[in-house]
Amino acid sequence: MISGLQRLWERARPVTAEPNLQFPRPLLLFQSDDWGRVGVRDGEGLEELRAAGVQLGESAYDFYSLETAGDLQALRELLGKHRDSAGRNPSIGMNFIVANVDFKRALESRDDEVPLMPLTDGLPGRWRRPHLFDGYRQGIQEGVFFPALHGLTHFCAKAVRRELKLDGDRGESMQAMWRAETPYIYWRMPWIGYEYWDRELKPEERFLNFEEQRLAVNRAAEIYRAFFGTAPISACAPGYRSDENTMKAWRECGIRVVQHGPAGHKRPHLDEYGVLHTFRNVEMEPATTKVDLGALIEQVGNCFGRGLPGIVSIHSINFHSTLRDFRTTTLALLDDFLGSVKKRWPNVLYVNDGDLLRIAQEACYLGESRRSRCCK
Ligand SMILES: [Zn+2]
Repeated sequence: MISGLQRLWERARPVTAEPNLQFPRPLLLFQSDDWGRVGVRDGEGLEELRAAGVQLGESAYDFYSLETAGDLQALRELLGKHRDSAGRNPSIGMNFIVANVDFKRALESRDDEVPLMPLTDGLPGRWRRPHLFDGYRQGIQEGVFFPALHGLTHFCAKAVRRELKLDGDRGESMQAMWRAETPYIYWRMPWIGYEYWDRELKPEERFLNFEEQRLAVNRAAEIYRAFFGTAPISACAPGYRSDENTMKAWRECGIRVVQHGPAGHKRPHLDEYGVLHTFRNVEMEPATTKVDLGALIEQVGNCFGRGLPGIVSIHSINFHSTLRDFRTTTLALLDDFLGSVKKRWPNVLYVNDGDLLRIAQEACYLGESRRSRCCK
């Protein structure tokens, strides 16, 4: 079987203490955020928000709702059509927010906590998404979806509690959204921050302390395990806001791959704990930014030419269809993109975060299947 092994990377001569990784064979992976997180509750929620005085329509994120089983099916079918040089389908790494605001309880309670409904209990209030959760699982089984942890909430719960207690305009606008069963629309209220990052505090005080982060991460990992039946191995912080305490809390939960935001052509590296750090280097966000196929292919070529995996950022909004049809454009683009990549780099391999970790750790990859072995 050794003859079937393909050496995929070798360590670059380290110029720093970090073991930087080179990947001579073209590898392509997708990292996608915000799955499982509800936004505007379709047409009815949109009307309720408008009636409450929220003038929607300025930003694509005013039309962020939640994926449907149909959205997932269309994506699965598209990914199923494409194969890499080893015969494998592309896989979308999906970062999940594992709980939503439990709107009814949140409006009634003045507790210290923002009441949440974990995905394991379904969706809150009048939200309906028949067969959505089965769709996630089917894609995972087919190997075209690769779940990972985004967080318990996307917003900083501490910031939201503080504003609710103050009872000012901010708390009021948040509650107006909750009455329409929308948790928030970030660009309209950036003071809500990100899960581990309280935007309104002084820069040096913004990250939650270790115990606060650990509590949130543990709870999220517990829900994730119950929902997917496996522990998460990869994580991406909401808003890409993570610090050393986030890393520590993630390591305790078994996270082995950290997804960072766009950072030019920064190389993936294994840290002193054996955790792989990855950096997105290709932006495919047609819902929010005009995307040109030629420019995308050029971005991928720039990565492969440097011995870097192409790591495509593509948020879940691009696949939504209920409030505005982002899905049709995205799937057509993705189809063309995958076809062009395969044509230009016939030996490309589609990998997920788990594969990339194994390649990095074991130096070798058995191309014929998802198994990997170490080169002797
Ligand atoms: Zn996100």
